[in-house]
Amino acid sequence: MRIYNTLTKKMEEFVPFNQKEVTLYTCGPTVYHYAHIGNLRTYIFEDVLEKSLEYLGYNVKRCMNITDVGHMSSDADTGEDKMLKGALREHKTVYEIADFYTKAFFEDADKLNIRKPKIIKKASEQIDMYIKIIKKLLEKDYAYISNGNVYFDISKAKDYYQLSGKKPLELIIGAREDVELDKYKRNPYDFGLWFTVSKFENQDMRWDSPWGFGYPGWHIECSGISIKYLGEYLDIHCGGVDNIFPHHTNEIAQSEAYLDHKWCNYWLHGEHLNDATGKMSKSKGEFLTVSLLESKGYNPLAYRLFCLQSHYRNQLVFSYDTLDIASNTYNKLINKIKNIKDNAYGKIENEVVDRFQNKFKEAINNDLNTSLMLTCLYDILKENVNNNTKLEIIKKFDTVLSLSLLEDNKRIIDKDFIKYIEEKIEERNLAKNNKDYETADKIRKELEEKNIIIKDTKERTIYEVR
Ligand code: AMP
Ligand code: ZN
Repeated sequence: MRIYNTLTKKMEEFVPFNQKEVTLYTCGPTVYHYAHIGNLRTYIFEDVLEKSLEYLGYNVKRCMNITDVGHMSSDADTGEDKMLKGALREHKTVYEIADFYTKAFFEDADKLNIRKPKIIKKASEQIDMYIKIIKKLLEKDYAYISNGNVYFDISKAKDYYQLSGKKPLELIIGAREDVELDKYKRNPYDFGLWFTVSKFENQDMRWDSPWGFGYPGWHIECSGISIKYLGEYLDIHCGGVDNIFPHHTNEIAQSEAYLDHKWCNYWLHGEHLNDATGKMSKSKGEFLTVSLLESKGYNPLAYRLFCLQSHYRNQLVFSYDTLDIASNTYNKLINKIKNIKDNAYGKIENEVVDRFQNKFKEAINNDLNTSLMLTCLYDILKENVNNNTKLEIIKKFDTVLSLSLLEDNKRIIDKDFIKYIEEKIEERNLAKNNKDYETADKIRKELEEKNIIIKDTKERTIYEVR
């Protein structure tokens, strides 16, 4: 597989440490609120990566953490404690907040056919491992104690700026603008490994440590969990682009200082999903969640298709108009496949299966090019070959695309059925234009009774068959 490595800033041939098993670590959610659909774009990318590796024949051992302690609203140890913010917002304990939003995260992921990683570890349950690493970092003089907290001294790290490509000067300028200076740090970008002198007096999650009662910094959690569960040599580490600095940069610094050797070979980062205002946010504007999309009549898998239509390294702007188009494409796709299923015949032609599988693998090898993978899918629908062969190929592609293309419980949507819906929608729009809202409502209800949910957007009326 050829893949873009953020560490080297190059496309590279992927070569795992061990041919039999690829180790993959993906940073998990901070469970203080629902995940927005931007966060979930990153998890869709990681899901496609894991399943693509399997498609190529690798066994994948994947681990993900659940960040339930230590993550500040600024990634540089400053600002508010995210978990505490959630607890105060909802008058609950941080443990209750963590449990609730962890469950919500996996429910949303499930709706998007994102598979649960084999190994999932809560950050708050791995304290011994962080203590073990921090002790060693202190012994080796990579870390220091100041005002009761333990910090990592970034001036001691080898190639600290390699992953981010940042220059120390930029950081100093940046520091003046957006980093609250902590006078106990030797360098403004040194980061906390263990906090005992917390500004959050009401912090619930605290543990005994050789340096006092306190809690770990966010970055040490991913290093600790990854090394403990995936070993000292990691093949691939992923996250969204915002994780490159400081989170992943700090993970590399502390892990390699602890291990005395290179830790992870391939660093893959997914670009952001933005909304019309720019950055997607949980506090400003419309908080875009999977449930919100569902409440507006969208199938979550139409959102998955929307993400797959663009490359993971390109920024993507979310709008309901573009989601509408993806939604209609999804419905048409399901409908076409349903027709193929209803007319399944013929002996599977292995030569065609192999040819299409090879094309699909080429798309994977091309830096996980999901839009090319979708082209392979459209091509097989058009191919002049019997339907059983088509179904065999679609089944294989769907192990990666995970769009539930062949699911049996899908409502039968044939041409006549679509014609009926479209005529009804037209009739309703006509009624609306004539301000005959009674008829328009009657038509909506008639469709609803048939489990056809319609939704008016600025451009057009879309529908979903449940
Ligand atoms: P968090 O729950 O804040 O720790 O973030 C979970 C994941 O979502 C991380 O891998 C982030 O890099 C990623 N992420 C955050 N914002 C976005 C966004 N707008 N688009 C895509 N991924 C994002
Ligand atoms: Zn992480």
